Amino acid sequence: MVLKLHDTASRKKRVFVPQDETRVTMYVCGPTVYAPAHVGNFRPEVVFDVLFRVLRHAYGADRVVFARNFTDVDDKINAAAAREDVEISVISERYARIYHEDARALNILPKTFEPKATGHMDDIIAFIDQLIASGHAYAAEGHVLFSVASFQGYGSFSRRSLEDMIAGARVEVAPYKTDPADFVLWKPAKPGEPAWESPWGPGRPGWHIECSAMIERQLGETIDIHGGGIDLVFPHHENEIAQSVCAHGGKPLANYWLHNGFLSMNAEKMSKSEGNIVTVHEMLARGFPGEVIRYALLTGHYRAPLDWSEALMERARKSLDRLYGVLRRLKPIEPAKVAAPDAVLAALEDDLNTPRALAALFEIAGRANKAEDEAERAKAKGELLAAGALLGLLSNDPDTWFGLESISEAERAAIDRLVAERAEARKAKDFARADAIRDQLDQRGIVVEDSPEGSVWRMGSGATETRYLRAAIEHLSKYGFQEGSAQRAPRHAEAVLRRNEKNYFLVSALGGRGDSSVLVEEPLWKLRQEVELENGSVILVVSKELLQTLQARVENSLLFGYLTVDQRGSWELVRE
Ligand SMILES: [Zn+2]
Repeated sequence: MVLKLHDTASRKKRVFVPQDETRVTMYVCGPTVYAPAHVGNFRPEVVFDVLFRVLRHAYGADRVVFARNFTDVDDKINAAAAREDVEISVISERYARIYHEDARALNILPKTFEPKATGHMDDIIAFIDQLIASGHAYAAEGHVLFSVASFQGYGSFSRRSLEDMIAGARVEVAPYKTDPADFVLWKPAKPGEPAWESPWGPGRPGWHIECSAMIERQLGETIDIHGGGIDLVFPHHENEIAQSVCAHGGKPLANYWLHNGFLSMNAEKMSKSEGNIVTVHEMLARGFPGEVIRYALLTGHYRAPLDWSEALMERARKSLDRLYGVLRRLKPIEPAKVAAPDAVLAALEDDLNTPRALAALFEIAGRANKAEDEAERAKAKGELLAAGALLGLLSNDPDTWFGLESISEAERAAIDRLVAERAEARKAKDFARADAIRDQLDQRGIVVEDSPEGSVWRMGSGATETRYLRAAIEHLSKYGFQEGSAQRAPRHAEAVLRRNEKNYFLVSALGGRGDSSVLVEEPLWKLRQEVELENGSVILVVSKELLQTLQARVENSLLFGYLTVDQRGSWELVRE
């Protein structure tokens, strides 16, 4: 295979050659865990997961080593911990767990290593020590700073002049800095902040040094691929390079640098500070399968900006419905054992051209539909699944995808007949009859999608949820409640609604899967149905749809009951 990757350092597409084919190394900068991740945070997660799959396919699953960190020391984590009056680990562990839950839903393979700053303090301190000893860093007033003047290549990676860099990093001129462009490796803790002992006094590391130290410890001095979002080129990656190259006698930090483009939302950059974000957790709770989010993220080339919208999600869902519709028709057929199809592989080897790979997937689906004998159908099915595995798609059972597991065979056959009858009516241009059948299906909560591959149907979800949500929130807001983010639930709780001192609703449910419990957190608006007022109480009924969502996501399911909330805000759970 000839894999070509666009390397930010050389601004060129280059043929990928690993240093050691038996140990291909990749590092991607991960999130700061202080809030649920938004879909923009998951773009690199999905893009580099596809690259991980392509590399594993080429070199062998156990020969690719992939590390992605969690930043668990940060001002935002400190602030969140102070707000709740808890240790920072309570915050970072909570959001790391939610991140893992989201990643599982998006079918992202577990990383080989997942280092955290708090687990590598000794490595970080040793790294800084070495930079001081070699004249690339200096201690001043409890800080340690990297001396930009000591590294001739500084700025060449991001191709910026010193003036640009100072403006871009919004550096402060501080009395302890020799040069305003010098950046922090270690900083003293303010009173009350978490601190670690160091030769320069109690404090904590800067953000950039975390990655350099963890890469050295987990992967080595020079790695094959370093990735991240395009916004990390400067200052983060410029600074990682300066630190690592200086600490390692001029050896490069990475041989290939990959950066994914921004995600915008309705044409504006998605960012927490702009307030225009949509979290992955929220979308999952609304009933969008993780695979829809993954597919939507792969519809654009990773280097180009991608605009996120409800319409994009709908298109992704319909595309997957078409592909799963084909797999549903091929269900009785045993897939042939075939290699990943050339067209899909070639697209991915060309700098991860996922739009082209998805188009190739549809060509295979088209072939499957036209296949005339069983052998051809078995081959097409095998190819669809092999290509899907490279992209991290199509791993669900088609019945699960369409929500059919809870429907009996007899009922399914009856619906099949109605859908077929509707198709006949449409063909005969008897639209009144076709519409009447659609209404009948609607009433049963069944959605029919028409596509070139034929009509497929599935259990609907979502639409009525929003209506009930609004009604519920309106009622609850009268009692001073506000919509809020989810919180940790006790182990094996059946269903919990909690309210903290700040009037946030916390709704969670937890299901066990063997020893490792899986946490599913649903915001308030997933609770639906009758909101009644009775003796000053508000009663919410957990929806059957929610139950189904949970059943699809956790094996042992849970959760059904009433929740009463009185005017003083105290609550009681009544199990059915
Ligand atoms: Zn980094």
